Amino acid sequence: MQTFANYTYERPNIPKVKEDFYQKLVQFQNAASLDAAIDAIDELNAIRNHLSTMYNLVFIRASIDTRDEFYHNERDFFDEHLPEIQELDTAFYKELLKSSFEAQLRNKYGSQLFDLAECQIKAFSKEIIPLLQTENKLTSAYSKLIASADINFRGESYTLAQLGPFSEDPDRETRKEALEARQSFFAENKEKLDSIYDDLVKTRQQIAEKLGYKNFVEVGYLRMQRIDYNAEMVERFRRQVEEVIVPIATKLYEKQAKRIGVDSLKFYDESFAFSSGNATPKGTPEWIIENGKQMYDELSEETSEFFQYMLDRELLDLEAKKGKESGGYCTYIEDYQSPFIFSNFNGTSGDIDVLTHEAGHAFQVYSSRHFSVPEYYFPTSESAEIHSMSMEFFAYPWMETFFKEEVEKYKYAHISDAIQFLPYGVAVDEFQHLVYENPGWTPEERNQAWRNLEKKYLPHRNYDGIESLESGAFWQKQGHIYEDPFYYIDYTLAQVCAFQFLKKSQENRGKAWQDYIDLCKLGGSKPFLELVQSADLQSPFEEGTVEAAVSFIEDWLENIDDQKL
Ligand SMILES: [Zn+2]
Repeated sequence: MQTFANYTYERPNIPKVKEDFYQKLVQFQNAASLDAAIDAIDELNAIRNHLSTMYNLVFIRASIDTRDEFYHNERDFFDEHLPEIQELDTAFYKELLKSSFEAQLRNKYGSQLFDLAECQIKAFSKEIIPLLQTENKLTSAYSKLIASADINFRGESYTLAQLGPFSEDPDRETRKEALEARQSFFAENKEKLDSIYDDLVKTRQQIAEKLGYKNFVEVGYLRMQRIDYNAEMVERFRRQVEEVIVPIATKLYEKQAKRIGVDSLKFYDESFAFSSGNATPKGTPEWIIENGKQMYDELSEETSEFFQYMLDRELLDLEAKKGKESGGYCTYIEDYQSPFIFSNFNGTSGDIDVLTHEAGHAFQVYSSRHFSVPEYYFPTSESAEIHSMSMEFFAYPWMETFFKEEVEKYKYAHISDAIQFLPYGVAVDEFQHLVYENPGWTPEERNQAWRNLEKKYLPHRNYDGIESLESGAFWQKQGHIYEDPFYYIDYTLAQVCAFQFLKKSQENRGKAWQDYIDLCKLGGSKPFLELVQSADLQSPFEEGTVEAAVSFIEDWLENIDDQKL
């Protein structure tokens, strides 16, 4: 059996690939029968899959070892040619929508492929290429600035990521000073951060106008491929979060203050959940993986087969090691039908979340590998997070294996975090609606808007006089706002769906699991609300869904004596 190390990479000959591609595209245009059209689509997809396979191999291997010069050169090569590769997709989509067999093809593949194609076409025109290049330059300027942070804290220098663990330090003074050190970076770079975002908003407004839209909101939704919901529905969802979740979250923060023994919870206390420290896995990385295998063996036949597949082909790179990039992700290597999971185990409960969350993504794409349409391997992002976040819950019965006597503490923290994230998540979304609806705002007006949203969604928040935070600049640390506009509500929509799976799994585990498996097999073949419906879940946009999804969680949290955790 071939393992990941033996998956072959060869740099694609781009001019030759393009020539082949356009030749097949002509075959598709001239197809005399439906079968001929389908054959041409299959061949076009084979070319697209192969390109994507080469890209993924480069991306994965470069992230596993940042010192590997070969794969770094290859990554630069792809970065340079990505626009040309994307042009191939657009060319294909245009022909697809014009095809004389469109009705029959819709019948065969479903409408989703055509709707996705339309989103891409509506969000692009040759005229906006220079503006897209400007946008790219600005987002890279942001990520470079953030990565360049070299923060002096108690005589040592740290990156923003390296400062992270101090937010959980048992010593309150340490937490406070670390936060002040972090914010000094944002205060010193205020002008740069403001001007990058100001330019981004103006550039995106121009993109929208050139494409014929009033403002960038619609373009943002098209880029996120939101096919069956709109900004008004999202607004109604945010209101449910405000009414139902904010009071629960506020109560959780009050209990936390009592638990850690402070009179009033300050922002630098928020990540310090328990005086005794957070729950940690009770073993080495190898032990975690072994127990993970046992968990997936016991969970179901499907997950057992899936996890064995990942192990046999060595498709998991989980341990932190020298030269490895930070973070975690799951991707899919098309030609080898192989999901791949990348992470950096660090001895925290996050290691187990990788094993459930990223494995949830991987299990979904593994279950969808039967599709002939590459667009259907993964669903759009709000749907994709349902699989990963729900797997975290389906794995609950095995958490005792990993956390032993701290299992209750783990679950309490896991669920509280999920609840507390929702108000922040919708605030980030509302902020972006406001910003792009008011492209003429000054940086000060934007900060004021953010501060107002914090008062609405995070009323407990107390910055203890730290100037840049009091003035409303917190949002500047949220990369999505700069780099992926409107990509955020997705996490909150998916979380509400995952809560429903948790509830269903407690009422009837067999049915809940079957619904989950069926959902994984549907991949991205349908838009969000159809997937939700097919999994027998309630739409998060429907009045009452949020409350129904969390009332049992509220009871569960009430009945736990958290002061003893
Ligand atoms: Zn995810």
